[in-house]
Amino acid sequence: MQLYKNQNLKVHNSLSGKKEVFQPINEGHIGMYVCGPTVYSNVHLGNCRTFMSFDMIFRYFKHLGFKVRYVRNITDAGHLENDADDGEDKIAKKAKLEQIEPMEVVQRYTVDFHNTLQKFNFLPPSIEPTATGHIIEQIEIIKEILEKGYAYEANGSVYFDVLKFNENNEYGKLSGRKLEDMIANTRELTAQDEKRNPQDFALWKKAEPQHIMRWPSPWGDGFPGWHLECTAMSTKYLGETFDIHGGGMDLKFPHHECEIAQAEASKGKSPVKYWMHANMLTLNGKKMSKSTGNNIYPSEIFSGENDILSKAYAPSAVRFFMMQAHYTSILDLSDDALLASEKGYNRLMDAMENLQTLSTGAKSDFDFGAWKQKCYDAMNDDFNTPILIAHLFDAVKHINLIKEGKESITKEDKTLLENTLNTFVYDVLGLENQSAVKDDSNALNGVMDLLIELRNQARANKDFATSDQIRDRLTALGIQLKDGKDGTSFSVN
Ligand code: AMP
Ligand code: ZN
Repeated sequence: MQLYKNQNLKVHNSLSGKKEVFQPINEGHIGMYVCGPTVYSNVHLGNCRTFMSFDMIFRYFKHLGFKVRYVRNITDAGHLENDADDGEDKIAKKAKLEQIEPMEVVQRYTVDFHNTLQKFNFLPPSIEPTATGHIIEQIEIIKEILEKGYAYEANGSVYFDVLKFNENNEYGKLSGRKLEDMIANTRELTAQDEKRNPQDFALWKKAEPQHIMRWPSPWGDGFPGWHLECTAMSTKYLGETFDIHGGGMDLKFPHHECEIAQAEASKGKSPVKYWMHANMLTLNGKKMSKSTGNNIYPSEIFSGENDILSKAYAPSAVRFFMMQAHYTSILDLSDDALLASEKGYNRLMDAMENLQTLSTGAKSDFDFGAWKQKCYDAMNDDFNTPILIAHLFDAVKHINLIKEGKESITKEDKTLLENTLNTFVYDVLGLENQSAVKDDSNALNGVMDLLIELRNQARANKDFATSDQIRDRLTALGIQLKDGKDGTSFSVN
């Protein structure tokens, strides 16, 4: 029997504002869509936090035995600088600045995104669709919305008519905003505005002659509005109504609110059963953000090269830091907080290693069966990873007491403890034991220094057979030596 049948999983649904019992639309199957990155710059650690929260959620669903189709898109067109549908396309702007093709920008930062996620030990999503790969689907949805009378064309652009939609539907229900308040708080339209009113949002924007990212459409050359891509891709791969839609809190409005409006206007159905929002990572008490520069990049954390850091941190130590906070709570990054998390992470990893060497006895001094259920209860309570980690440290305490000979454990309980810790530490939280990895890299550097020195000596002695042998054998192992002005360096493929 699948594990999920025994577990009473509850998730916080942003739409109702409540924790609800999780019941997928089709038993045993979950469709989950998470808004992916806009690939116009490197991902910062804040972006990583949101994706990591959903990676953990994906991992737990899989562990429970659900068959999950996890769709996380890549936004490679249509995301303008301002939410109010003006400003340049973020990717086109970067392409102009660097004098490269927009798709070169997309490629560069998609690769960075994937490399970063791999370092953090993310599981790949089931499908990773791109906005530019779904222009036809987006145009089809615009046509449907126009047919239903909830959109209008103006000068080659198409806008969603929020006031009209709100006559029969509730615009603002996800973010808790009232349309009347929004209207009261916005400026009047000017004569140049194409929108009928400021709350309307673009489904399709006409491309001005200088706009480099453009596609033909029934309304002329243009490009899709940002909100539309997620409606098109989630509907295509998960259906008109699916189980979970996730993203960072900052996407609730306008992005997700507009997604709901587009889906309800075109399909006449609410698109998502459970809306889930991950909270922000802050730095100096302020949201980490690409545009304000208040951010830190994963590469800086891994190398320690940032003024706020006293040292480098392994990806799993950072992952542990993230998992110590509930995904719906704000988390502030600081060197002190990272140091404390690294200590906790090392204690956990030490205990995982010590567990292997524990001898077993006739009785257990701790109820490991009840402890295991507490771990599940924590995760079943809206993925409460901080509580789970507190239970994991209960186990660490007992492992240490058993090791010191102050408590004992039976063979069966030792197996249960080992399996449960492996499940939660590695499979669900997605941690890896990286203390070993770190030691390896120190050892590699030492061995390489020695080999480079021996090769230099061989060359000085004109013993080219030996120096070539060292280089060739290293090449065969995937290690390249590079001779430069400042000596010899190496890289590992
Ligand atoms: P973007 O590339 O700007 O579209 O953002 C990608 C994802 O990162 C979205 O789900 C955002 O909500 C999320 N995000 C952006 N800033 C932060 C932050 N400081 N903390 C957590 N998530 C964030
Ligand atoms: Zn989205």
